[in-house]
Amino acid sequence: MSSHAIIFTPLLALSLLFFSWSLYQRLSLVALGQPTHTYIGFNAGLREMFINAFCQKRVLRKLFGFNHFIIFWSFMVLLLANGEFVLSGVFPALRLSLLPEPIYLAIRFASDIMSLLAIVAIAIALVRRTVAPPYEGARNLESYVILVLIAVHMFAYLGVAATEISLGHEQAAAYMPVSSLFADTLAGKNLDAAYNCYWWLHAFALLAFIVVLIPFTKHLHVFTAIANCFLRLEGKPNTQRPETFAKGQTYGARQVDRLTTKDLLDSYACTACGRCQNVCPANITGKPLNPREMVKDVQINLLANGPRIKKGQEATLPLIGEGCKGTVDEEAIWACTSCGACMEACPVFIEHLPKVVGMRRHLVEMESKFPEELLSFFENAEQRSNPWGMAPADRSKWSSLLGERPFSVDKTDYLFFVGCAGSFDNRAKQISVAVATIMDMAGVSWGMLGKDEMCCGDSLRRLGNEFVFDKMAKANVEMFIEKGVSKIVTSCPHCFSTLKNDYRQYGLDLEVIHHSELIAKLIQEGKLKLPRHADLGKVLFHDSCYLGRHNDIYNEPRSVIQAATGNAPAEFERNRENGFCCGAGGGRMWMEELTGDRINRNRVSEALKQQPDTLCVSCPYCMTMIEDGVKDLGASEQVQVKDVAEVVAEALRPQPKA
Ligand code: SF4
Ligand code: SF4
Repeated sequence: MSSHAIIFTPLLALSLLFFSWSLYQRLSLVALGQPTHTYIGFNAGLREMFINAFCQKRVLRKLFGFNHFIIFWSFMVLLLANGEFVLSGVFPALRLSLLPEPIYLAIRFASDIMSLLAIVAIAIALVRRTVAPPYEGARNLESYVILVLIAVHMFAYLGVAATEISLGHEQAAAYMPVSSLFADTLAGKNLDAAYNCYWWLHAFALLAFIVVLIPFTKHLHVFTAIANCFLRLEGKPNTQRPETFAKGQTYGARQVDRLTTKDLLDSYACTACGRCQNVCPANITGKPLNPREMVKDVQINLLANGPRIKKGQEATLPLIGEGCKGTVDEEAIWACTSCGACMEACPVFIEHLPKVVGMRRHLVEMESKFPEELLSFFENAEQRSNPWGMAPADRSKWSSLLGERPFSVDKTDYLFFVGCAGSFDNRAKQISVAVATIMDMAGVSWGMLGKDEMCCGDSLRRLGNEFVFDKMAKANVEMFIEKGVSKIVTSCPHCFSTLKNDYRQYGLDLEVIHHSELIAKLIQEGKLKLPRHADLGKVLFHDSCYLGRHNDIYNEPRSVIQAATGNAPAEFERNRENGFCCGAGGGRMWMEELTGDRINRNRVSEALKQQPDTLCVSCPYCMTMIEDGVKDLGASEQVQVKDVAEVVAEALRPQPKA
């Protein structure tokens, strides 16, 4: 046995034992979570893993993602070389040179080049982290240590290869340009000493990864992020987990084991890239919600409480509370607008929203603890099935000039689900009129439920009031079935998403479309003729999170605006999947916004930079928020806010006489 092997073998054995034990200790805690039944499936999981973990599709969406791609692939390529290092460290005769020559040469060449590329990528990452950190808080010791140690590891690998070349032991020297150059610098040096030095540097760097960095730092993501891509949940994260209500049961996530297994795996898979926090409207505007930190808090909490929970004991570190590490701040929980930007940005499919909603459910359903302004919202929604507590009989008042328009399965094609805002909010009622007029002009047969229409329950569900949502959803689904509804059109993306996605959990699978989709279809089929172009000046289109990010509807509203105005709408800097929330989703519509800057002001400020004449929206909540923002910034004289339907209605108006 060589002198290296005598010392390295027990060190390696102990390290691997410790590695397995610590990984088991940490990862076995995932099993404490609640079951998640909606994994994407084996084949689809493999595909996601290939595309997103190995090809790094989502990572590469950002320019610096390429840097990560290089580091990841150097890690993958060097797995072979590291495998050889470990094996030959124990059994010196076991070398890659035993492989067929072409394969051996290819491995040596790839490892040589990738080591250099990784060192360059790490140098770039270090400079970037120091000079222009990718997110607030990125300059932390853990990240620096990981980066430096990867570089040391690569350098040591090259050092070992270079000394072997200098010693004449490397048959692939001609295929190792980087190591060969390195070898030139060793001329005249004590090669045996240099070899030992690089060999042990390589060994200690490798052992440091095994013993400390992988199990105890965010570097664990080299395994867990791959697993998270494979175990991705089905579909888009645009709905919430249903609850089963029964006597004596508890609801929501009071304690970390009340989150799902996926939530817990997420907490280990986080790469701490900070992309979620960079796009979070709450974080950007100074609220205490930071999605990256929330995921980390879940991990800290799990590690702190998991061993106790495993033994059937109570958790000691609260999951919900006030601002200490491992505890999610209550104010942060209420600050989320459910915009989904974090989940869209996350390269490894971490789902933040279910964690927020899980914690909200506990606060609402178990503790009746929520911002006080929600009390009247909850009462009104439960008692009168609308947020304002208006009389149900007033639901169809907005349509008084259109005459009676009841939905009847024999006579009407579409159910126009007007929604609470479209029925009661003065500004949104104008959108309802525009949608109804357009449908009439295109010859669409439609009807409404009038006083029988109920709230869809979107805000209730996102606010964690699942009990009332559940009752509402069941009542609505029952009514739709009873009335024979098969096609629904709605002007509210929140109703749209809830009826289309959330109600599936209740067995409802209807055709649900947003009015922008219907109008686009009518124009395309020639059923809606626009006699003129609406003259609305420069039109800037704002994506609604619930239409765009949550349901991938980006083109229809744009094509409708183009048809109605003759020009494609101008785009916000943050548009489509990168669109910025108006601030009203997730029930924030019914809450005060007292901390930091207002989200709608941030969005309208972004709009005003482009000096639009018209800000176009596709959602009644966005309408309220954007109009308020425009007023707030004193821009009402310069900019008008219109819904897509109103833009089309403008184009349908007879040409004013000259
Ligand atoms: S859903 Fe939106 S508001 Fe909530 S954490 Fe994610 S980015 Fe922030
Ligand atoms: S949750 Fe996702 S986006 Fe956020 S820091 Fe972690 S890996 Fe990055």
